[in-house]
Amino acid sequence: MGENFINREYIEKLLEDAKCADTAVISRALDKAENGEALSHSDVAALLATDNSGHIKRIFEIAGKIKKRIYGNRIVMFAPLYVSDYCVNRCAYCSFNNGHDFERNKLTMDDIRQEVKILEMMGHKRLAIEAGEHEGQCPIDYILECIKTIYDMKFENGEIRRVNVNIAATTTENYRKLKEAKIGTYILFQETYHEPTYDKVHLSGPKKDFDWHLNAFDRAQDAGIDDVGGGVLFGLYDPYFEVMGLLLHNEHLEKKYNTGFHTISVPRICPAAGMKIEGFPHLVDDDTFMKIVAIIRIAVPFTGMILSTRESHDMRKKLLQLGISQISAGSSTETGGYAKQNKKTTPQFFVNDDRSAIDIISELMDDGYIPSFCTACYRGGRTGDRFMSLAKSGQIGNVCLPNALMTLCEYSMDYGDDAFRKKSDALIEKEIPHIANETIRQKTIENVQKIRSGEGRDFFV
Ligand code: SAM
Repeated sequence: MGENFINREYIEKLLEDAKCADTAVISRALDKAENGEALSHSDVAALLATDNSGHIKRIFEIAGKIKKRIYGNRIVMFAPLYVSDYCVNRCAYCSFNNGHDFERNKLTMDDIRQEVKILEMMGHKRLAIEAGEHEGQCPIDYILECIKTIYDMKFENGEIRRVNVNIAATTTENYRKLKEAKIGTYILFQETYHEPTYDKVHLSGPKKDFDWHLNAFDRAQDAGIDDVGGGVLFGLYDPYFEVMGLLLHNEHLEKKYNTGFHTISVPRICPAAGMKIEGFPHLVDDDTFMKIVAIIRIAVPFTGMILSTRESHDMRKKLLQLGISQISAGSSTETGGYAKQNKKTTPQFFVNDDRSAIDIISELMDDGYIPSFCTACYRGGRTGDRFMSLAKSGQIGNVCLPNALMTLCEYSMDYGDDAFRKKSDALIEKEIPHIANETIRQKTIENVQKIRSGEGRDFFV
């Protein structure tokens, strides 16, 4: 049995005490955040507790400033790839749950190539493999084969350069195999840090074991995977408790492995076949959700924040301003959902933002963002604490910005029409002067020229 570093009574007491936090306490916490000082647990709890509109306005402003300072206006793009919906678990919120009767699918390697071809035609360079837990249908060797097939599949100029993996908690030995297969981030959502709720919503199956799930990142780190991505499924329990749980988990990993979460995902529960969303008593409304995203941004400034198409177009626009640094686009949550080869497929949940990838990418540029297809840190070996030291050094602008611009240039040449290219070229010209380092700036100008003239591609700092 692993450690349980989530002290429930401690979190409950923090949240209870925070209800009495006065304006002076909250303003002090906000001043600390504004000055780049680390927040204490009680500071974060106080921010969560406030519903004063003046405080919330300031929380949003500070989160926006932190995001701009650390991430600039870059937004990293990705898409999920569902490979198998067979599952032995009975999770009350998920349509793949073992008690739900539907026609299940698992992709063959040919199916995977079909799916990846479509994702490459959308311009994606970064995927997240998603699968239910099923030792018989979806053993680790199958996942490893999927990863190899994805990395090997090249369609025209397309290629997947980083495969993140979101599969059930597994053994150290299996994590070692995933590391050898060159995965990017290992992503796993704790779903809820509140153990009684965890027990209630996980009706049966290996996932029911709270400690096994909670200690998955320790096993992954022990196996050498130093980019791990956490998250909770908002809607299962008190969202403030979950935010404190995320922070304690992050601190546990920082203390033990010198690296906390590489990313935090903020999925909110969506309607799905085989479940009734009304049955979940802790659904999070939009205003609370925005406050939570902004507070996570403030509490862990250097951790990437991922938002999926579970959120609507409008919410995504708002949340991008408050701290989100990575979004999915053109997503399908069905096994075989991109190629749809006459099979009956069932989504894991229904997405809200169903616009095409290029529409999403184009709108990001209209809104002043730089869509980035960068995978350089992972490919250059800047993972774990090496990534964090880069982020904390303030050098991110000299690395991520040129990489974002060069990958956007590649994208526009490969997948954009004339109007798109005109828009992205203007954005690239506008942004290049912001690369502070003279040598890197000159090199970026040269590389962009080479990409445009077809002389070269796939450059990164
Ligand atoms: N089977 C793996 C596991 O157990 O961790 C992979 C997870 S699954 C493919 C990805 C995530 O989707 C889950 O961790 C869960 O948080 C989320 N999810 C499941 N049902 C959902 C729903 N109805 N709405 C939104 N997200 C959901």
